[in-house]
Amino acid sequence: MENKKEKTFQFVVVGGGIAGVTCVEQLSSQIPSADVALITAGPHIKAVTNYKQVSRTLEEFDVEEQPSGVLEEKFPNLTIIHSAVKSLHTKSHCVETADGRVFGYKKLCICSGARPKLLTQDNPYVLGIRDTDSAQEFQKRLSKAKRIVIVGNGGIALELVYEVEGCEVIWAVKDKAIGNTFFDAGAAQFLIPSLEADKPQAAAPCKRPRYTTEEAAPGGSHTFTADRSSQAYGHGPTDSGSALGPDWHEGIALRGAEQVSRRVSVEYQCEVEKIFTSEELHKSPQQTLRTECVGDWPVYVRLTNAKTFGCDFVVSATGVVPNTEPFLQGNTFVVADDGGLQVDDHMMTSEPDVYAAGDVCTACWEQSPLWQQMRLWTQARQMGWYAGRCMAAHSLSEPVELDFCFELFSHITKFFNYKVVLLGKFNGQGLGPDHELLVRCTKGQEYVKVVLSGGRMVGAVLIGETDLEETFENLILNQMDLTPYGEELLNPDIDIEDYFD
Ligand code: FAD
Repeated sequence: MENKKEKTFQFVVVGGGIAGVTCVEQLSSQIPSADVALITAGPHIKAVTNYKQVSRTLEEFDVEEQPSGVLEEKFPNLTIIHSAVKSLHTKSHCVETADGRVFGYKKLCICSGARPKLLTQDNPYVLGIRDTDSAQEFQKRLSKAKRIVIVGNGGIALELVYEVEGCEVIWAVKDKAIGNTFFDAGAAQFLIPSLEADKPQAAAPCKRPRYTTEEAAPGGSHTFTADRSSQAYGHGPTDSGSALGPDWHEGIALRGAEQVSRRVSVEYQCEVEKIFTSEELHKSPQQTLRTECVGDWPVYVRLTNAKTFGCDFVVSATGVVPNTEPFLQGNTFVVADDGGLQVDDHMMTSEPDVYAAGDVCTACWEQSPLWQQMRLWTQARQMGWYAGRCMAAHSLSEPVELDFCFELFSHITKFFNYKVVLLGKFNGQGLGPDHELLVRCTKGQEYVKVVLSGGRMVGAVLIGETDLEETFENLILNQMDLTPYGEELLNPDIDIEDYFD
């Protein structure tokens, strides 16, 4: 391998998604004289634009697909290589690309992202949504579809069921409530009416200071219908291997073949047992057709709740698998249970001089009690940036400390057209029964949940325009004892910002 090296770069970064691009930007700005290479499979790169620091840990930004030349113009010492990495040889410090070239590195950062975990491989009726290509394929298939089955309960499934119109949606979730990755059952109950109508509902505030998640958990199945006028969307698609990010559906019309607008049926606490083609279903003597699957459909899905649904296709939105394969062979990376490359508090993998950032890695340092990894856009940026900082610092033999952004989990997004802010252990993650919840809810307007442990705020879910994010972030960060305030903390008649200033 040694003598096949075309060139050795000081830094090589693999992957033109947010993590890789941010890492390259950080390296190139910190050491402008360094020779940096970005090796990426897709023709475009993802760039962060309109970055806004909303508070100490909350950030908002847009993501743009850009031709890679934009980055090369900005950083004269950067070389972009458009080819997929086929193999990595950590002993000889080089990578081989699909087009047969070999590049040496002094330090390498793997930012190859993740891909959808599909229910089944190579089934033409099962789609995953990851990049612009797969989103386009989904849109094309949807335009001819009358019924689809969406499986999964994370962010992508949540967005899809809300956005898809003109097509019946059967939504299979394994939990007792929708959106389990982000919410508890109470928040799910707050959001569910949005599937019935998109009209803003004005209602009197109802204060429910304490509740248990069991109390609010729905069971069985629910059907919602809504009248929503179709929306026209603008710009056209491009291709890239990077994961889509927030607002990925805004450029594409998600309309099915029917005139009806939204019609979503949720099947709770079930998973997919089997997927049949119509031929297989009719040949199988033990299959009894029930009302859900009457009609001729190209594919049928049997759920573990014993219902079988016929549909045009299935969307598998059940999480992601880190893209580690090309890097593992012949090396001794420690891989985490979720399939990611384990990284320490300097974003270093178990192989010397190899770092990893974004969806491909799993954070394995001793984490702050208020932070957890989630494969999200913001964390891809933060990890890419921090990996770049660590690589530069190590090259210059400078010390570097874990960045403050890993102190507190924070995320701003939109679900069902509501602003959603998640802070800390927003779902009581890892706290066991040793926590208390305070909730304030105004139907159709806002849902505020605070997680308290030992009288201190450790997490919050803010849905709607609550304007509480900064105050709550401070209360979480300063770990003030809030016992004296009790339920007054969420009293809508008290201006909490003034209270704690
Ligand atoms: P990616 O963006 O996946 O980039 C990986 C890069 O590596 C790509 O350029 C790819 O071409 C390249 N690559 C892969 N393998 C190789 C190889 N062998 N050689 C060379 N190059 C390679 N997050 C949010 O925070 N909010 C959201 O609303 C949100 N919505 C989402 C909606 C969808 C449909 C999807 C799929 C994801 C969504 N996410 C969202 C998650 C978010 O997009 C990811 O967490 C983020 O993009 C991860 O960035 P990354 O740079 O680690 O990986």
